[in-house]
Amino acid sequence: MPVTDPATAEPLCEVADAGPEEGAAALTAAAVAQRDWARTSARQRSDILMRAHRLLLAEVERLSLVMTLEMGKPLAEARGEVAYAAEFLRWFAEEAVRLDGGYLPAPTGGSRFLVARQPVGPSLLITPWNFPMAMGARKIGPALAAGCTCVVKPAEQTPLSMLALADVLRRAGVPAGVVNVVTASDPGAVVAPMIADGRARKLSFTGSTAVGKLLLEQCARTVLRTSMELGGNAPFLVFDDADLEAAVAGAMLAKMRNIGQACTAANRFMVQRGIAAEFAARLTERMAALPMGRGTEPGVVVGPLIDAAAVAKVTALVADARARGAVALTGGEPLAGPGNFYPATVLTGVPADARICHTEIFGPVAALSIFDTEDEAINRANDTPYGLVSYLYTENLRRGLRVSEALDSGMVGLNEGVVSDPAAPFGGVKESGLGREGGLVGIDEFLETKYIRVAL
Ligand code: NAP
Repeated sequence: MPVTDPATAEPLCEVADAGPEEGAAALTAAAVAQRDWARTSARQRSDILMRAHRLLLAEVERLSLVMTLEMGKPLAEARGEVAYAAEFLRWFAEEAVRLDGGYLPAPTGGSRFLVARQPVGPSLLITPWNFPMAMGARKIGPALAAGCTCVVKPAEQTPLSMLALADVLRRAGVPAGVVNVVTASDPGAVVAPMIADGRARKLSFTGSTAVGKLLLEQCARTVLRTSMELGGNAPFLVFDDADLEAAVAGAMLAKMRNIGQACTAANRFMVQRGIAAEFAARLTERMAALPMGRGTEPGVVVGPLIDAAAVAKVTALVADARARGAVALTGGEPLAGPGNFYPATVLTGVPADARICHTEIFGPVAALSIFDTEDEAINRANDTPYGLVSYLYTENLRRGLRVSEALDSGMVGLNEGVVSDPAAPFGGVKESGLGREGGLVGIDEFLETKYIRVAL
């Protein structure tokens, strides 16, 4: 199947297009390798992951170029993602040797309980195109650390970064059969039989809520354990008492990371009335100044969107908002091709019923509206089926904590525009997902707890 450069819409190369047979072969390889991999020492697994961490950093220039070519993000961001991916491997290399257990007396006496943690088994890992390497490392790292083998299905649009990561892992010492990458143009045809097969014991998915729901249904049939990192609709609240310059800087990060194509992207900006005009003016000045172009060109911040469908979606959302009374302070129209370019855009006066407030924009558009009271801000922020992350800016600590606790999301950026960190538990509530990746709990997703009752 072809891999396309979103900046030129030209093909880059071709990769293998797997069907159900190749999927089954990959699962067989993972199932066969599972026992030996689980028996390696934690220190061995840790050392391999640490070597892969160092290799990724040593090869950051080559890897980030591959990522920019297939995905479009500017080189500086691609370098950041390779480092982010490497950090997941280091974090889980460190976690591999810290798995705990327990030794407890039975309350009734006479017996002891041993509590052990064992790898869940062969794991299916499905990743999206927007962070084509880091989303893989965030799953492969804990899977390998826990002693699980895996089959990885990267997004059709960005297979090269995952193939490159798998190559690094192989050179770092991961044995054959432990990490198996399956690239495919018909994901359902490959994945559904692997879920139904029964040998996989875990599915970890990052992608859209719609596909996540479909996979949850399939997993119910074999009671497959799941982790789901799904879509978001992040509110970004700016209170009158915020440090305005910090709020604008945070807004730029929360909106423009990955050209707006992040599950954590701020989707709905809500600004308290007293500072709304000033916030909009400062944000517009920063957004209008962002250089746009191919991600490989120096200084570019706004690269192309992933494909023509993404541009069409953003165009339609902006048109709908404008038809309902929103005003574009900068941007607002797609560029003519070639490539999938949409400029950094600021909309003000976006009414709550505009589609843009209820849909993941996944593009460089900041949709602004005004609120008056804290209660109104919380109610509107929570008025969504999603609950991945929320952002709020205030210099009042009491308000900051009060609002953080009241927001229905798995993560909150309090005076911070980026929350992602391998050392922190990443994940959502409501329709944004199940489970957490990273942090102290990330490895739990790949472990089963076994209790052994011992007669004295
Ligand atoms: P997507 O369409 O759901 O695809 C994600 C992955 O699932 C891809 O590998 C895709 O393969 C595969 N897939 C699609 N249909 C499938 C099926 N029927 N069975 C098995 N696999 C299937 O999402 P996307 O457009 O790539 O990514 C964007 C979404 O991911 C956004 O909603 C974003 O919020 C979310 N995301 C969430 C997080 C998080 O941590 N919460 C992080 C990043 C992204 P194909 O590429 O071949 O379609």
